Amino acid sequence: MIKFKGKGVYGAVAIGRISVFNRQEAQVRRIHITDPEFEKNRIKEAEAIAIRQLKQIHEKALKEVGETNAQIFEIHMMMIEDDDYNESIVNIIENQLVNAEYAVALTSDNFAKMFRSMDDAYMQARADDVRDISNRIISCLSDSVITEGSVHDDAVICADDLAPSETVSLDKEKVIAFVTAYGSQNSHTAILARNMNIAAVIGVGGKFLESVRNGDIVAVDGYTGEVFVNPDSDVLDRLKAKKWEDHEKKALLQKLRGKENITLDGRKVNIYANIGGIDSIGSVLLNDAGGIGLFRSEFLYLENSDYPTEEQQFTVYKRVLESMGGKKVIIRTLDIGADKQVDYFNLDKEENPALGYRAIRICIDRPEIFAVQLKALYRASVYGNLGIMFPMITSVSELNKILEICGNVKNDLKSHGVDYSDEVEIGIMIETPAAAIISDRLAPMVDFFSVGTNDLIQYTLACDRQNPRVEEFCDTHHEAVLRLIEMSAVNAHKNGAWIGICGELAADTELTETFLRIGIDELSVSPGYILKLRDTVRNIDLSKNK
Ligand code: PEP
Ligand code: MG
Repeated sequence: MIKFKGKGVYGAVAIGRISVFNRQEAQVRRIHITDPEFEKNRIKEAEAIAIRQLKQIHEKALKEVGETNAQIFEIHMMMIEDDDYNESIVNIIENQLVNAEYAVALTSDNFAKMFRSMDDAYMQARADDVRDISNRIISCLSDSVITEGSVHDDAVICADDLAPSETVSLDKEKVIAFVTAYGSQNSHTAILARNMNIAAVIGVGGKFLESVRNGDIVAVDGYTGEVFVNPDSDVLDRLKAKKWEDHEKKALLQKLRGKENITLDGRKVNIYANIGGIDSIGSVLLNDAGGIGLFRSEFLYLENSDYPTEEQQFTVYKRVLESMGGKKVIIRTLDIGADKQVDYFNLDKEENPALGYRAIRICIDRPEIFAVQLKALYRASVYGNLGIMFPMITSVSELNKILEICGNVKNDLKSHGVDYSDEVEIGIMIETPAAAIISDRLAPMVDFFSVGTNDLIQYTLACDRQNPRVEEFCDTHHEAVLRLIEMSAVNAHKNGAWIGICGELAADTELTETFLRIGIDELSVSPGYILKLRDTVRNIDLSKNK
């Protein structure tokens, strides 16, 4: 047995088997070979596996996102079978006497360059596809690499760290825990684990990956941050018992389903759920959320290999709204950049990405992309109770531009006789100090504020949320942060707007009473925290002086 200690970021216990996450674009080594026939056969086998994987993905996509959007996987299958592509791989193996992986990587580079140099935008975009299929073939050549199809049941994903674009590709049905060597509490991987209600431990250290192998038994305690690889029977028994207790505790909380979120002295608060996609809806309903306070729509973009179309987005938004049966659903517009990188946006690498070209800045700059999302949202609005929320706001002029684009989109829909609801609430995230400080100016322009504490804390305290080195300076209860939230609440209410919190701090029960006293109207948390928060609210008495 080997024990590792990191930081638990979601309280749950899991016992499963290790799946080491090897990055698909892992360095491919050039190896001199003597048997080209052997390498050519390896290619054939790997391509057959890749095609089988793509068929499965295609079928899944057909059901989930419709025929038009599923087409890309058919294109990928055709590209794998393309004669020129295969001829190039075989030539490289035969002429240079190199391994199959290298031949695929070199072919990928050459073809991607060729596609990029073409005038036609459609052909240029194929460069990403050729890279995608080549990575898939390379991963099929190496059996230790996890791809969407190859995660085994009860998988504990172990990685150095995971980017949001990587986590979205995992088969979430099979993943029961995450363990990462590095990473920080507020990274999107940690947030995703919370959204999925699965045990997660980060920062177990660089030695961890050297010490584990695929298939090893592992026990993860997301409460204490302990990870036991090949646990002995004592540890295993102890953690099985803890897992059972945990299950019982969570089952007890289920008794609060259907009860109000009301303090002992009668103050009500809305408790909503944060989600990253439609697959969380089951958990949202199971945990009796009053609505969805944050749908991180960028995950739709991260999951795709090209810009999601209006139709594709409309289908997802409509389904979320319908599933919530008239309860409030707040969809945040695209928030990419910083750690959420989407290849096909072709964003430049930046020195300080968190302070860089991201979120609403990109949307205002590229209204053709923004308008597609807004059209899909407004069209879906007739199927439920929609709120649209904009991230990373820093100024009044920015908000004016956004409202103008929304007006244009609505006019366009109207002129084409397309219905949309007039009841859509418009809100902004308060996640920059600037937005909080000018909240008196912003509040009259919107229906609601939602405080994004993950970013508000990093910008207020100058602590990169991705950097574990500065976590000790990241005091989540810092007076400066609380004052900014209070200032925003006062200004929201003065102007007839409501205010919620959708950052991770909303789930911190040590602050629930403070938030209620500040006047927060809504708390939006990962689905697994809803009932615990309800329990906390029901035991608070605001009539007592603090
Ligand atoms: C936040 O910043 O608090 C937030 C909710 O948004 P994200 O974590 O996606 O940046
Ligand atoms: Mg944010």
